[in-house]
Amino acid sequence: MPDKHYSFFGAVERSFNKAAGFTKWESGILEQIKTCNAVFQMRFPIKRDDGSIEVIEAYRVQHSHHKTPCKGGIRFAAEVDQDEVMALAALMTYKCAIVNVPFGGGKGGIKINPKKYSAYELEKITRRYTAELIKKNFIGPGIDVPAPDYGTGEREMAWILDTYGAMHPGEIDAAGCVTGKPVTQGGVRGRREATGLGVFFGLREVCNIKDVMEKQGLTTGVEGKRVAVQGLGNVGYHTAKFFQDAGAKIVGLAEYEGAIRSDAGLDVESVFQHRKKTGSILNYPGAQNLPKNTDMLEMDCDILIPAALENVINGENAPRVKAKIIGEAANGPLTPEADEVFAKKGILVVPDMYLNAGGVTVSYFEWLKNLSHVRYGRLGKRFTENLNAHILGQIEELSGKKVKDNERELIMHGPDEVDLVYSGLEETMIAATHEIMNTWKSNPEIPDMRTSAYVVAINKVGTSYAELGIFP
Ligand code: NAD
Repeated sequence: MPDKHYSFFGAVERSFNKAAGFTKWESGILEQIKTCNAVFQMRFPIKRDDGSIEVIEAYRVQHSHHKTPCKGGIRFAAEVDQDEVMALAALMTYKCAIVNVPFGGGKGGIKINPKKYSAYELEKITRRYTAELIKKNFIGPGIDVPAPDYGTGEREMAWILDTYGAMHPGEIDAAGCVTGKPVTQGGVRGRREATGLGVFFGLREVCNIKDVMEKQGLTTGVEGKRVAVQGLGNVGYHTAKFFQDAGAKIVGLAEYEGAIRSDAGLDVESVFQHRKKTGSILNYPGAQNLPKNTDMLEMDCDILIPAALENVINGENAPRVKAKIIGEAANGPLTPEADEVFAKKGILVVPDMYLNAGGVTVSYFEWLKNLSHVRYGRLGKRFTENLNAHILGQIEELSGKKVKDNERELIMHGPDEVDLVYSGLEETMIAATHEIMNTWKSNPEIPDMRTSAYVVAINKVGTSYAELGIFP
């Protein structure tokens, strides 16, 4: 790992500057796009279960107000600091722009290792954090809308909603103050797996582009590809599962405590259950334990997917990475030094701020659902099914033939909420992939896909600022 003084925000700025030269924006606009608009650093006390008082350090950063509300997850991790939250908030601005989600970028972080706190303590911390955000007007359906990130999930989002709702009685759109909620609390079906599914859709689309794959010495398509995933949390677990379901071979998996490999392929669900039962990913029947969990990053595979934390591949270990494609499911898993190594080696890096945009895309769908107060599919599903049944009946009558039962089911089916969410996400990821690839192709000077993604993002945010006009 790089030393503690390594600046993640500095790395984001370096990538931004590299791309800015390929755009037409004047330096003032570029500066405004790049800068963090508002940084809220807070400290508050909580009483631990043993009666002691602990002061908690936490942040919420609103990187850009070019569109509101701001949007971005909340992270619970011992490594959280202002630099990290600023970097993640900036990535959110660019990510939202790339996938055409009309939000500014934001991010939150609480500097705790959640494993060291009881559920009751975590609830107190989350509720107090929310109260601090409310006091400073840093949360609200039209202001700033948090979501889950590393170390948080549906449970924490429900606490945030409950705290916000209690302090805004009667606010009809209160459910839109946070996304990633349980479905019973206004969440949307498909949000839980959205980031992993988006990573899969994005990489599948890249794998379907013939000339890109030829350049990497790979065949087109996902089927049969050897995939290794670091981190079996929300993003990594679902990403690995979607790849396995599509016929890829999961040859390596890494967690905090170690890594395993199997050339024959690992069953993701069964590895996940093994870890749940034994407390470790290691010693999974039929797989080989790797001496260090970072060894998995260097194993022979086609697609490497870091889905844990930032800066895991740097100038030191990048030269030993053998994958042909790296899919950044985590935010910032590669340092700029690693990027340079891969650019020289011809390894394709599919960048985080577009690849893991599935979470924010489906969060956007959840927010829209909250504002419209109706479940997707509720009005149209039955109508579509009745219409399809009628059309099918007419075809069968006119042709004198009957369709097979499984085909009948498929044709008749009216969309449920999850069908609409998945299809909206698929369309978003496919469109974003081609927009970035076409920008890259249109200018041979653009060195890599990350720079191309930044160019797309800068152009969209720049247009937004230019059209808004800068306040005199
Ligand atoms: P999570 O807490 O659900 O899972 C992270 C997993 O990584 C945990 O199981 C943890 O034990 C493991 N891990 C930690 N250090 C590791 C190491 N050194 N080696 C191997 N495994 C390690 O978090 P998540 O929500 O899946 O987020 C993971 C990454 O994806 C983060 O960078 C986050 O910012 C990014 N991301 C998440 C979302 C989302 O919707 N949750 C959206 C976009 C991006």
